[in-house]
Amino acid sequence: MAHYAVRTYGDPVLRQRAAEVEEFDGVLARLVDDMVETMYEAEGAGLAAPQVGVQRRLFVYDVGDGPGVVVNPRIADASGEWRYDEGCLSIPGLRLAIVRPARVVVTGQDADGEPVELEADEFLARVFQHEVDHLDGVLMLERLEDDERKIALKVLRDRAMGLDTTALEARLSGAGSTRVV
Ligand code: ZN
Repeated sequence: MAHYAVRTYGDPVLRQRAAEVEEFDGVLARLVDDMVETMYEAEGAGLAAPQVGVQRRLFVYDVGDGPGVVVNPRIADASGEWRYDEGCLSIPGLRLAIVRPARVVVTGQDADGEPVELEADEFLARVFQHEVDHLDGVLMLERLEDDERKIALKVLRDRAMGLDTTALEARLSGAGSTRVV
């Protein structure tokens, strides 16, 4: 198996809507295996295909119960509200406090094309929502409130220019050692 390089902020592939998976074949199975390996190597709890440059609607995850995959996922139901510090493998080093629904039901298919329905809350629900966003070309930055998003974007711009962003980062509300997705 081969692992991929994780695409990072600024790569246009992260801003495009991925296409539905239609072929459930050996190529897909291989992609899933390689994505799981890449996720583990990056020490992430989730990884969406666009993050490895593949414009297909699937993601892998492991929040401690072994690896899983959802192909062509859809958030079928969402409820509650939970503020949590998110981190993204594609935006290294930023932790952003983001409010999203606390519980979701995700429907989709497994790697064989069989229908699946998964209920999740708290961290797993957060992973699912973050990864489905990736498939729509949406980064966690877009889930921030305006003021905080401006700071986060300035941190990323300044970093790209090699500037010290320590003081700016201190103004962001996210903190801690959140597992990244
Ligand atoms: Zn991410």
